[in-house]
Amino acid sequence: MVTGDSSLPPKKLAVNPKTIIHQRFGDKAHYNIEEIQESVSNGCPGLAISQKGPCLYRCRLQLPEFFVMSEIFKRKKDAMQSAAEKAVEKLSDPLVEDPSDQLVARLSYLFSNEFYSTCHPLSGHFRAALQREGCVNGFVPVTLMPIYDSKLFNLCKSIKPDVESKPLEVTWMIMDAATRLSDTVFASKELLSLRRTSPYPPEVLQSVEVSCKQETYVKVIRVPYSTAKIIEPLTLDVSSNNYYMDAIARELGAADASKVLLSRCIGKASSETRLYIHGPKSFQLDLMPEREVKDHQAYLNARASYLSGQDIYGDAILATIGYMWKSCDLFHEHVSSRTYYRLLLNKIPTGIYKLSREAVLAAELPEKFVARSSWRGLLPRDILCTFCRQHQLPEPVFSSTTNGGTKDMRASDETFRCEVKIFSKHQDLIIHCHQGESFKKQSDAIQNASLKVLSCLNNYLMNLNRPQEKWTNGNGLDLDFYPEHISKELQFFSLVHKSWPGIEANTKRLLAVNGTNQSNSELADTICSYNIDGPDSENIPSSGCLVCVCYSVFLVKEGDKELLEKNDEFEFELGSEAVIPDLEAVVAQMGVGQSAHFRVEVPQELIFAANGDPTRILSLLSSGGCSLEFHTTLLRVTEPLEDRMEKALFSPSLSKQRVQYAVQHIRESCATFLVDFGCGSGSLLDSLLDYPTSLERIVGVDISYKALPRAAKTLHSKLSQNSTGSVQCSGIKSALLLEGSITTFDSRVYGCDIGTCLEVIEHMEEDDATLFGHVVLSSFCPKILIVSTPNYEYNVILQRSTPEEDGEDKNQTKPCKFRNFDHKFEWTRKQFTTWASELAGKHNYSVEFSGVGGVEGVEPGFASQIAVFRRVWDLPKNGNFSDSPYKVIWDWRSCNA
Ligand code: SAH
Ligand code: MG
Repeated sequence: MVTGDSSLPPKKLAVNPKTIIHQRFGDKAHYNIEEIQESVSNGCPGLAISQKGPCLYRCRLQLPEFFVMSEIFKRKKDAMQSAAEKAVEKLSDPLVEDPSDQLVARLSYLFSNEFYSTCHPLSGHFRAALQREGCVNGFVPVTLMPIYDSKLFNLCKSIKPDVESKPLEVTWMIMDAATRLSDTVFASKELLSLRRTSPYPPEVLQSVEVSCKQETYVKVIRVPYSTAKIIEPLTLDVSSNNYYMDAIARELGAADASKVLLSRCIGKASSETRLYIHGPKSFQLDLMPEREVKDHQAYLNARASYLSGQDIYGDAILATIGYMWKSCDLFHEHVSSRTYYRLLLNKIPTGIYKLSREAVLAAELPEKFVARSSWRGLLPRDILCTFCRQHQLPEPVFSSTTNGGTKDMRASDETFRCEVKIFSKHQDLIIHCHQGESFKKQSDAIQNASLKVLSCLNNYLMNLNRPQEKWTNGNGLDLDFYPEHISKELQFFSLVHKSWPGIEANTKRLLAVNGTNQSNSELADTICSYNIDGPDSENIPSSGCLVCVCYSVFLVKEGDKELLEKNDEFEFELGSEAVIPDLEAVVAQMGVGQSAHFRVEVPQELIFAANGDPTRILSLLSSGGCSLEFHTTLLRVTEPLEDRMEKALFSPSLSKQRVQYAVQHIRESCATFLVDFGCGSGSLLDSLLDYPTSLERIVGVDISYKALPRAAKTLHSKLSQNSTGSVQCSGIKSALLLEGSITTFDSRVYGCDIGTCLEVIEHMEEDDATLFGHVVLSSFCPKILIVSTPNYEYNVILQRSTPEEDGEDKNQTKPCKFRNFDHKFEWTRKQFTTWASELAGKHNYSVEFSGVGGVEGVEPGFASQIAVFRRVWDLPKNGNFSDSPYKVIWDWRSCNA
């Protein structure tokens, strides 16, 4: 970070500090200059946002005993000078005393009159101690002092750097320091507590007003060490005459507050949610007989250890309670079993996302980051930072590189790539994502790389049983993963999340569509069936659309229902897997204004993290036979970016122009049999039915099991209407929808009069697009084949004319990225004509090029480029094949036929 005065050279001293350092340390003084990109704070350390500012320098001066870091300067010389100056200051600083003396001084302050009336998180304990009855009156447990006073803790740490992992040792260090204050502080070894020797003067006692709430109860959770026992809700009495630490001690079976150990904060750092445990018999573990240590360690509490990232033994109590800065009153929040399950959820990438969307049961971490404008919930980078914090891992290290900045490049050509590294506590590399893709916006590069890392982690966590070697090298080319370096952090994961729902459910798919006469065999292998109600709507969402639904989820058992989760407005991008698969599949069949309900299996732990009443949930579940019931209504649909772009520029829309183009060829050729390759949700077939044509037989083929039922639905209603004679397409005798890949031959599609393949090939890998070309021309042998695909050269125009969707980059030129996130490529005119001409030549077809959107011969060509292939030979008469690998999704025959 650049400080305000960073560019000013340090003030001159009479004697040059560098000389002083040299005289004193000679070559034992090491100056290291670091280059710093002028950076903007973005809440993520380690990430320098490169702006074309001057390069800045910082100097680290390492001396035998310590090091200092300079401020940031424009000149290396100034940075070195500043470091030397700081070192000299430090060497002669009279305040740098022996840390043991400082520890004593700090303790003395804590027991002063002055401290008593502060609003320090620790002073509340001093006041509460005066309310304790009997022999503990006035005693403050030492165990909690370093927890609530970080100065005290840091002093202990500077004396003994490894105390972090040894809370008991800190206790003894403070006890020892207290013996040097015997005039004012009384230390009880037996109680592990400290007390003032003299009472506080009355005016000090009166200076703090503590509100006297008579009865206060706080709900907490007991987390038994044995995972066989379930977590148990408890209520603590923390009324003002009852020190809350004593109340916790009683629940733990400890003699008093001083025998209770506290974990670090759990969840958010500021939460005051902690685990409380009974300390070992002797607080000096090294003095304890080995057997006793072993006994103690036999009670390892996996759940508590997993939550806190510390080794915790015995039963633990999870509570949100404590004194806070700025208030003298005791703060508390109730902790329920839901709190516990949410804390667990917050340790998994998908769980962090679910919580950020307040949609534990419905949301899933998407697999793709398309654009900030369509992402909902916490952004991938923030999820990743949260994940690392939750597992006490160092912050992720992001480094982005840019190809920009060279003189002969226009600023708009600048692109970014981002690398992410995740390290273990011991600085071993866990994940290194070196992303291949480059992005126009630095933030997109970062979010994409973060999401890759998150998906990898999620995937790993959901498949922990998978053999170790499967993970090495098997994770794609742009990510290295070393699970052995994270397994320590996750040693309790499987034990704690016994059956984590997710992965298995994803593999089950939904096919049942209401109201279409498809073969019902698929119904058998779906996990749920559903009903869609309400009048049909034109507006059925397609992949890439931003949909907005309302939904509620119930736990149901026979007549009983418990509401678990409800959202009045919930937006997600269709096709991005941002919600559970069942919900996505159902919404993909719905029109705006329609409602649906369906049931799914109960996701064990998740429902405890949802908002229902935990006791009701438990009683419903205990009797078995429950399921989850979703009710959802589709409220709104916002079209995908590609369509928005096209609509902004063309009238009629590009897709309509493509349909009209096909109709013209159907009419000219008097075609009766049409096959639409990659028909998607049937927009072409559907629109064709609005024109009078010679068509009698239409077939749609697509690989997407989600899109086809939608196609079936719209075609079905249109063709059924047709039997009343009111629409144009009265000539259609049969219609068929097939699921399969158009790179595979199926005899039902052989020899059509006209084949259409509109805006499909760019959704396949380039090799597959070519394979399709060979298969279609050599095996399917249509008389005419129309293939359309975006013209990459046209994107400049499309993207310039799009209204900005993010406010953030108003002044930035829009990148020439692909039109749709699912596109695997977009070709220039040259690439397309080369592809098509080679295919035509090989299979003895003629080919002509044309397009829609734009004007023939005017740069940069058509928006959608089109190739029309024509077979210049006759089909052999013996075309009698029986291959039929495609699956029939819908088979319609006219009753007039
Ligand atoms: N032709 C439609 C849909 C275009 S979207 C229209 O113009 O509106 C591209 C479609 O290609 C998607 O529905 C996708 O499922 C389909 N697709 C991609 N690869 C495919 C393959 N190998 N076989 C069949 N369909 C495929
Ligand atoms: Mg497309």
